[in-house]
Amino acid sequence: MAVNSSACILCRRFQWDGKHGLYLKGHYICPECEAKLVSLSKNDPNYETYITGLKKIWSMPGA
Ligand SMILES: [Zn+2]
Repeated sequence: MAVNSSACILCRRFQWDGKHGLYLKGHYICPECEAKLVSLSKNDPNYETYITGLKKIWSMPGA
């Protein structure tokens, strides 16, 4: 398995039984954060938090 963590990269929540989120470069994003990302606007106070979290993933070297 290439997945090295099942805790959400954004909120650190562990993967829920029976629910599947998103995997980016082997980093798990829970369904809740995935939904937030989809609905985020640049005016959202949490926007920077999520974008910063995603940038951490993008800046990591690929496997
Ligand atoms: Zn999450």
